Formats: sequence, structure tokens, C-alpha cells
Amino acid sequence: MTKSLQFVSGGGEMGALIRAYNWESSPVGPADKWPQSLRTTLNILLNSKFPMFLYWGTNLVCFYNDAYRFSLGNDGKHPLLLGMKGEEAFPETWHIVKPPIDQVLADGEATWSEDQYVPIYREGTLKDAYWTFSFSPVKDESNKTAGVFLTLIETTEKFNNLKKIEESNDQLSFAIEATELGTFDFNPLTNKFIGNNRLKDWFGLPHEIEVDLTLAINVMVEKDRSRVTDAIQKTLQFESGGLYDIEFGIITPVTKQERIVRAKGKVWFGDDKTAYRFTGTLQDITEQAIARKKIEESEQRFRNLILQAPVPINTFQGPFFIVDTINKTALEIWGKTYQEVINKPVFDSSPELEDSIKKILHNVYTTGEPFIANEIPVQVKRTGKPDTAYFNTVYQPLRDLDNKIYGIIAIGTEVTEAVNARKQIEASEKRFSNILEQSLMAVSIFKGREMRISFMNEPMIVMFGKGRDVIGKPLIEVLPEIEGQPFPQLLDDVYTTGVPHYGYEMPGTLVRNGKAEETYFNFVYQPYREVDNSITGIVVIGTEVGVQVIAKKQIEESENRFRTFADSIQNLAWIANAEGFIYWYNQRWYDYTGTTLEEMEGSGWQKVHHPDKVKKVTEFLSEAWKKDEAFELTCQLRGYDGKYRWFLTRAYPVKDANENIERWIGTNTDIHEQKEKEQKKDEFISIASHEMKTPLTTAKGYLDLLLLLFSEENQTAFSYANKAKQAVDRLNSFVTELLDASKIQNGKLDYNISMFEFNEMVDEAIEDIQLTAKNHSVQKTANNTRQIKGDRDRLQQVMINLLGNAVKYSPNGEKVIIKVEEQDGNIQVSVQDFGVGMSSQHLDKVFDRYYRVQEHAVYFQGLGIGLYISKNIIERHQGKIWAESELEKGSTFYFTLPL
Ligand code: ADP
Repeated sequence: MTKSLQFVSGGGEMGALIRAYNWESSPVGPADKWPQSLRTTLNILLNSKFPMFLYWGTNLVCFYNDAYRFSLGNDGKHPLLLGMKGEEAFPETWHIVKPPIDQVLADGEATWSEDQYVPIYREGTLKDAYWTFSFSPVKDESNKTAGVFLTLIETTEKFNNLKKIEESNDQLSFAIEATELGTFDFNPLTNKFIGNNRLKDWFGLPHEIEVDLTLAINVMVEKDRSRVTDAIQKTLQFESGGLYDIEFGIITPVTKQERIVRAKGKVWFGDDKTAYRFTGTLQDITEQAIARKKIEESEQRFRNLILQAPVPINTFQGPFFIVDTINKTALEIWGKTYQEVINKPVFDSSPELEDSIKKILHNVYTTGEPFIANEIPVQVKRTGKPDTAYFNTVYQPLRDLDNKIYGIIAIGTEVTEAVNARKQIEASEKRFSNILEQSLMAVSIFKGREMRISFMNEPMIVMFGKGRDVIGKPLIEVLPEIEGQPFPQLLDDVYTTGVPHYGYEMPGTLVRNGKAEETYFNFVYQPYREVDNSITGIVVIGTEVGVQVIAKKQIEESENRFRTFADSIQNLAWIANAEGFIYWYNQRWYDYTGTTLEEMEGSGWQKVHHPDKVKKVTEFLSEAWKKDEAFELTCQLRGYDGKYRWFLTRAYPVKDANENIERWIGTNTDIHEQKEKEQKKDEFISIASHEMKTPLTTAKGYLDLLLLLFSEENQTAFSYANKAKQAVDRLNSFVTELLDASKIQNGKLDYNISMFEFNEMVDEAIEDIQLTAKNHSVQKTANNTRQIKGDRDRLQQVMINLLGNAVKYSPNGEKVIIKVEEQDGNIQVSVQDFGVGMSSQHLDKVFDRYYRVQEHAVYFQGLGIGLYISKNIIERHQGKIWAESELEKGSTFYFTLPL
């Protein structure tokens, strides 16, 4: 080291290089000749940690320190640069550097340049670099500017960062532009904010730099204002975390349209936890909000639809199957309340469903494959008591707009009725085949045209006689002998036409009590129809009718016997149905009348009845058929020779098990001879009584005279005369009765109708009877004092007859009770005695002509015509007469007369 360079001791690498440099041949000359100003400057330069550079002298020779050397990098100009002329050192940038140097040299004033682009040669190439530098003059001893001192810092990195920031700022604003965001930067201390123009446009705010928050708040939709203010206040609290996210409406002042915006922001807090800045963005989400509202509405509609659906529906949300909608019907089925299940994972609220649907839900949720579960039995309590209902349920995935599954909808369709119906059908089919199996009827079912035996119950198998293994085989295979016979054709006809075929009373075998029995069957070959009515086979039903066939045969036989018998008797016989339609006559009838069944059927009999009487007979019969009693009538029937003969017709009703008349059987007995004799007898009686009447009256008159003569003088003669008189009186009354009877017989009994006091007439009759009946007391009660219309004498005759009988048939002298009562528009008279009475079979007959109870005839005198006449008189007055009696107790005779 030359002594002259002591002044540059230290100075690091550059200090060492300067000291070692051979300055003699350089433009600045040898170091010991350097002026003080250069030495001082170099000293400062080498000892500074700040990058420094010095151009010295007219050649602007280069000096620099370690700090500067650093920016030259490796493989650059270091260390060649030291001692070079400036012009030669930086030929590539000299045009940039030279002007400020020149200016400093000329003016002696320092310069300042910031972030100047001055490329630098380092790492083997010329690199972009930025610098902030100052050129300042260095004066020599004569106060002349001898060098230019350059202080500089490389700002390449800072510059690059700034550029990056700028770029990113550009990008941010581009993004803000592109996303159409409004931005704000709010100062909580001043309550003012800075916003971008878009935001200000939205709010219709002035384009000033700072705007008061209240102006913005006022633009908001009224209902949102306090909510937004509260949210801002809350966000400004440190505890809130300082994040802000809110939606609200604004009414843009210019357009007066409502927009919905979403504001997002962040608050910056100082160390003291107070907010100092609140920045953020606003986004116009009107369209989204509308869309979202629409979606919400549609979702709501969907929910309502579910809630109101009459079928069970619910939705499960998310992988935990949270029940987020469920309707009443579904709740009923689940047996849960709304609160129990809503918004809860289904298996939390209803663990019992886990077994049945967990797998299903999982599968649908993960695969998206819908699942259909059919006829799931569910216990429901719809009527208060548990009931099994059946549902077909569809589990369908719910997908969002991106087609992602977010839940499941379960829709049930109740099929209880169908299931029950099917079960019933199954049960009834089962029952049906059980019934068929156990039926006494022989049943088999042939299926298809080949008549395959698909069913055969035990009785049919027995009848068939081929064993059980015929089932399943075609008929022709089991019975090859029927081939070509009419039977297969018959079955085929039933199959084709659907018209059943009946076979009656066909002989066959039956095993009864282990014994084979020959018997008869009725067969029905019926088409076997499916539910759709199509014919797929034939049902054969055989009913054993052996008993019926035998019974029928027996009936036929007995009928035959009856006919033979009926035809062989003397009587004319006939059979009528319950309504009196005569459908059968015996041969005797046809022989006598000379007619045929065709003429006689129904009321053909009218043709052979006497034309004078046929009307009366018809009337009588039409009444008689209605009663269910045997009846009799006498009639005249014309013989084949045209002559009429008298017959007594007797008819008996034949009744079924229910006491309903099934038919009438009648016989007509020829009474022509008796009738003729009777007529002759009547004629005789009539003539005789008529002839006797006059002599009797004469005899009676003389006896009266005799009684008057003998009354005082000759007691004996008087009593004889009196007895004769009594006998004549009795004879007289007999004759009168006989005459009356024959008059009735000939329809010649006269009546004198007048109004009279009924009671008075009765009293007279009693008086009359009491004259002779000394041992009887006749007692009368009457509740009637009416005048009635009728033949007084004839009605008195009836009274006397009934009273006379009462006295006569109570020989021990009892009392006789007479009641005259008015009831139901009638006068009813009863005459009761306590005498011998009679058994009930006589009660009707005593009113017949000449009828007398045999036992009575032995002890009591009479002709048996008093009641016959009485009945006639009462009936002529449109009244009724009847008797009640009990043997040994007495009788009561009643008659009524209409008022
Ligand atoms: P009769 O002249 O025989 O009395 P009626 O015609 O008066 O003839 O009576 C017919 C028959 O009725 C009698 O023969 C008798 O058998 C019976 N009869 C009539 N009234 C009575 C009576 N009050 N008590 C018992 N039997 C009577």
C-alpha cells in the first residue's frame, strides 16, 4: 500500500481495491496528487453503509463503495468499473445518467430522482432496475464542482411490489366492475362512508367522496331500516366478530323501484377493540331474491299440497332423514303427533321404523332409485280401535337444481280395501273349495277344452269309481269309452254356448256307510266362469235324488191307486187347487155328465149345473174356497141324457205342513132318491098340517066352550076338558110349526114389518111362558128401550121358542136369564138356562130342520124344527143366531138384530 492512500483505510472490499489500484496511469493521476476534496469524499463514501458512487474529474472516473457494489451483482462490471471513465463504464445507460450529471456540474445543485428506470448489467445480462437517487456536487478546494456524488437505493423490488399492487388493484376493480358490486368503506368515528359510484347510484347518493350513513339508511325499505341499523351496530361490537351479512330492500330514488341487496362486510378493530374501519360490498340480488321467493312459494305450495293430500305423504331431508314435512294422514299411520316427529331425524322420533324402512331410505338416498313397497300392513287407530290398513308406498328421491339428492318423499296409497277384498276372495275360495270338498253333492271341475279334471270331491270320486289319481288328467283319458258318444259333445256345447245342461234322475252308485248303493242323481253341467265372465271349464254337480225318485215313484203308485179307487166308486169325484180351480174329475163324472176334462176344467162344472141354481152355487163356492173348512151343498147336475139329478157335494181341504190349503178333494153323492122322498114327505106334511089346522081350530073352540060349562059344576069334567085342551094346544102348535116350516121351505112365510118396542115384546113372551112354567124363574136384564123395525109376531115367536126350549131342557126348574143388550149397532139377546146342555158337535146342527140331539129325543117331546124356523126368521131380519152350551151345565142361545 502506498503511503499516500492511508486516508482510505477500512472501507471493506472497495477500500482494499482502491488502495491496491494502480492510479498512476489513470485519468485521476497518482493518489498522492489527489486533492483533499477527493480524499475526503472517498473517505465518506467508503465508510458509508448507504450505496454511494462518485464520478470524479472531467472524465468522470468511477468510484463506489461496498454497499453499491452489492447492487452490481455477480458476473457484472465489478470490479472493472473502479477507476473507469463514466462514459466507458455505462455505455448502455450513459444517455440516462449523463444529463443529470451535466446538470449538477453546470448548476452546482443537487438532483432527486425517484424510482428511475436505470437497467443494470448483472448476473451476466442487462437487468431492469429502478432506483431512487440523488446527484450532488462535490466541490474542490477552489470551490469548483470537481465531481458528482451519487447516493442511490435500488427500488426495483419496491417498484415491482407497487406495480403488483396496482395490477391487483386493477384486477379488484375489474372484478368489482364485472360482478357489479357496490363497495363501501365506512368510518365509524365519523359515521360517514366512501362508496363506489355504483353503490351511490343505487342509493341515489351524491357523488361526493364521503356520505353520511343516515342518507343511505333512509333509502332502505322502511321495514328493513331498524333491522339494518341494529345489524351494523352489532357488527361494530368487537364481541360480534365483526362480520356482516344482511339482506335488505332499497327503493332506488330515481326509478322508485325496489331492489333487494345483500351486504357483506368486515369491521377492523384497533388494539383497544374499537372499530376503526368497516368495509364491504353490496350485491344486487333482486333477481335471486325473486327467484328464491318463487322457489319458496313453490316449496310452500308443494308443502301445502302434501299437508292437504288425503293420502299419507312426508318428506325426509338430508342423510339423517329429518322429517321436514308430514301430513295428518301420515301421522295417523305413524301413530305420532306433529311435534313428536317434525324436524327430527326419523329414527330418533320413531325408532320402531328402523327395521322396516332404514335400509330402503338409505338405498334411495344413495342410489336415487325409487323404491316401491306394496301392501305394507300398518296398525292404525282411525276409529279409536286398532285396525290393520294396507299401503303401497313409493319412496322417491328429491333432487335440487343441480340434480343432487337432498331428501326423499314417501307417498302412500291405501289399498286396504283391495287387500281385504282379495283376502276375502282368497278366504272365500278356500271356504268354497272346503265346502265343495265336504259337500254331499258330487262336484268336479273340468278345465279347458280337453276337459282336464282339475277338481273332484270325494262323493264324485266314489261315483266316478276310478280313484283319486284321475285328478289332473283329461276326461277322455280317464273314460276312453265315451269317445264318439254324445256326452263329450254335450260338454263341448256347454263350454261353447255357456248354457247349462241338466240331466235328471240318472242312475249311479253311491257309497253310504261304507256300502255301495244304487241310486239316482240329478246332474248340472254348468260353465265355469272366470271373474271376467269368460268360460274356462265346466262344473259338474251331481245331487243324489234317490230318496226323491223313490218317493216320486211311490207317489205315482199311490196316485194310480187313488185313481183306480176314485174311478171305481159310485160318487162323482173331483180335485181342485186351493183357489177352487178343478183340474181333475174321476171317470164316474165323465160317464155321468158325458163330458171331457177340456170342457170341465176350471169352472167348466157350471155347464152341468141346473141353470136356475148355477148363480147361487157359484156365489156359495167362491165364498167357500176362501174359508179353510170342509163344506157341503146340495145341487142338481145334468146327466149325459139331459136329465137333472140331486147330488150332495162334500169338499175337504187338503193342507200342507204349514196348514196352508194345497187342494180340495170333493165328492158328489147321488141323493136324488132321498131328495124325492123328502120332497114327498114335505108335501105330505104340508098337506096334512094344512088339513089338520081347521079341525084343530074347531076342536079348540069347542073345548073352550066345554071348559066354560064345566068350570063350576063338575070339577072332574073340567079337568078332563082342560087336559084335552092342553093336548089340542100342543098339537096346534106342532101343526103351526110344521106349516111354518113348509112355508119356509117353499119360500112362502110372510112378514109384517112395523116399528115396535122390542122390550115390551120380550116381556110379553116371558109372561106367556111363565103361565105354564111355574117351577122356573125367568129373570130379565135390559139396557135398551129402543123401537125396532121388524115383524113383531115372528120375533116374539123366536123369543117364545128360545124361552120354551130353555124351560123344556132344564127339567129341574132352574132359573132362566134373559139379557137384552145394545152393542155395536145391534140388539143382542141371550137366553141362558142351567139345564141339560149339549156337547159342542151339535151346536151348529140344532138349527137344521128336524135335527134333534138324540139323547134329548128320548126324554123331551119335539119336532126339531123350532130352531130351524127361528134361524130363518132372524136371518130374514139380517141377524145372526148361534148357541153355546156345555153338557149338564146348560145352554145359552144368542141372536142379534141390526138396529
Ligand atoms: P125341539 O122341538 O126338538 O126342541 P128345536 O128346533 O127347538 O126342536 O130344538 C132342536 C134341538 O136342539 C132339540 O131337540 C134339542 O136337542 C136341542 N135344544 C134346543 N134348545 C136347547 C136347550 N135350551 N138346551 C139343550 N138342548 C136344546
